[in-house]
Amino acid sequence: KQGQDKDKDKADRATSELVLDQRTRMILLQMINNNVVSEIHGAISTGKEANVYGAVAYTDAGAAVQRAVKIYKTAILVFKDRERYMTGEHRFKSGPEKGNNRKMVKMWAEKEFRNLHRLRSAGIPCPEPIKLKLHVMVMSFLGDRKGWAYPRLRDANIVGADVEQQWRSLFIQLVATMRRIYQVCKLVHADLSEYNILYHDGTLYIIDVSQSVEHDHPRSLEFLRMDIKNVGDYFRRQGVDTLADRTIFDFITAPEGTIEMAEMTEAIEQLYISRPQAATTEEGLAELEVDNEVFRNQYIPQTLDQVYDIEKDVQRVKEGEGQDLVYRNLLADQVVLPKKEGTEEQDGASSDDESGSGAA
Ligand code: ADP
Ligand code: MG
Repeated sequence: KQGQDKDKDKADRATSELVLDQRTRMILLQMINNNVVSEIHGAISTGKEANVYGAVAYTDAGAAVQRAVKIYKTAILVFKDRERYMTGEHRFKSGPEKGNNRKMVKMWAEKEFRNLHRLRSAGIPCPEPIKLKLHVMVMSFLGDRKGWAYPRLRDANIVGADVEQQWRSLFIQLVATMRRIYQVCKLVHADLSEYNILYHDGTLYIIDVSQSVEHDHPRSLEFLRMDIKNVGDYFRRQGVDTLADRTIFDFITAPEGTIEMAEMTEAIEQLYISRPQAATTEEGLAELEVDNEVFRNQYIPQTLDQVYDIEKDVQRVKEGEGQDLVYRNLLADQVVLPKKEGTEEQDGASSDDESGSGAA
């Protein structure tokens, strides 16, 4: 289903798959009139929640520019499953209107559009959002001039004498990107895997961010932990010596430290050097597996109210302890977990603690 086939195929598919309702056709027509797109080609991808089509726009000078059009499906029940990403999200305080698919799908499209903007502003490789109208989003096309989309990381054909090294640096690139998404965009992707990353020429492009959540979403840390697991599992299958999930989680969430790509790469190399045991031997691998298993089962509170003994935990973290707390970076910083009304810190230490604001 990846990429596009020959021209004839394209035309066939355009007719067989471009079964659009009238509203969608009207939106596309408007976009054609406004020169956002000129031609819509075959489907690059047909999914449960959306279809992505290749498109071309002609500039005033007559040059053809490739675009991608993501059309969210409005007549589906799958969106029910996505509610967990929506509730608690302050940009959607009122919550999704149940029983109104169209409105809900529109919100997903808006969310993806805005999230792509944020990623772009942070210099993260991803599609450029171009135009949004209801459930139809136009973005820049990630692919070659002939209209072939870049492969998903899942299908990337990485070759050369230094394949191992390439995979390793892709892993490091991705971990650094995840930190940047968290620290600069204040987002957690929440569906990150080899399926939602495109690969081209040594660069990883992040896509599919409609379900991404704010870093202060009640379940953001859970989603982050899941992203780390998925990414780690995939790279381990490629033979990469990965870092422990907990190490990556701490690296991404630590408010102090660099957010520049080159410096983050160095910092990650340092993590390799300073880890207690390399996961390259059988013993080291077993150790890593146990460590990951423990970490994945650790309790993550969704609000500060749920922290068992908040004062004690904050104290431990202040004394440089609490390595076992998944949320220790948040306690030190208090940026993420919402505070219960009227639980001000007695010693007033929080007012001059601005370590988490970070330079953007
Ligand atoms: P879904 O919600 O269906 O998973 P995605 O945003 O992941 O939607 O897009 C589905 C597929 O479409 C991707 O795996 C990728 O192959 C292709 N795709 C999405 N956006 C673009 C783009 N901007 N340029 C090229 N291909 C894209
Ligand atoms: Mg996807």
